[in-house]
Amino acid sequence: MARRPLVAGNWKMNGLKASRAELDAMLAGHGDSRAETLICPPATLIAGFAEAAEGHALSIGGQDCHVNAAGAHTGDLSAAMLADAGATAVILGHSERRADHGESDALVRDKVEAAWAEGLTAIICVGETEGERDAGEAFAVVADQIAGSVPEGSTPDRTVIAYEPVWAIGTGRTASISDIASMHARIRTYLAAVPGADATATRVLYGGSVKPGNAAEIFEVADVDGALVGGASLKASDYLAIVAAAG
Ligand code: PGA
Repeated sequence: MARRPLVAGNWKMNGLKASRAELDAMLAGHGDSRAETLICPPATLIAGFAEAAEGHALSIGGQDCHVNAAGAHTGDLSAAMLADAGATAVILGHSERRADHGESDALVRDKVEAAWAEGLTAIICVGETEGERDAGEAFAVVADQIAGSVPEGSTPDRTVIAYEPVWAIGTGRTASISDIASMHARIRTYLAAVPGADATATRVLYGGSVKPGNAAEIFEVADVDGALVGGASLKASDYLAIVAAAG
């Protein structure tokens, strides 16, 4: 069965109440798309965005969650809270969380299970640093991240993998088409080793400076099933152009 592309927008720590205008433009210009669409705004905007997107094809997601459902964890948000606010998915293990908050593979795996428990789809991020790629370690690093971060039972309906080479995030540089193709193919073989995962049916997104100008070429790669888009997802026109490139 053909995998339905997903174009997920990661707004990171960007967006104020006034950004609702950008969401409204996305909803107005959305139209019919083969791709599933998802915007992950900062937590302060999730509930309002989810309300606005009700009845539209576009879904709203979070950017992180805690492993616990509730409790004494100042400043954290649980998967239950995200779901209650109207989120249907959550990005987990983004390299900025792994770097800025010291998130380990084991923690990411626990967060994925917490997200599933609330019915959220987990978008699990993996990717090597520039130093790791230069040292010829990119495949080994990503293999370890998949083995450590993806729990047993990662079925395609609740798990999406995002390959995001760290050096391509927010830099305007993208991995070469051949590097994307070989890494995505490898990711399927790593995923096949996870008990209960269906590597053929699981969507593997590319992320790292995806823009309207390069999206179509990236989406043509056989094992690429959409994108996790940062900067270009902040502007409705750019985001919709990337969605259109997905078919
Ligand atoms: P970018 O970010 O598109 O701005 O490179 C991608 C991401 O970090 O998800």
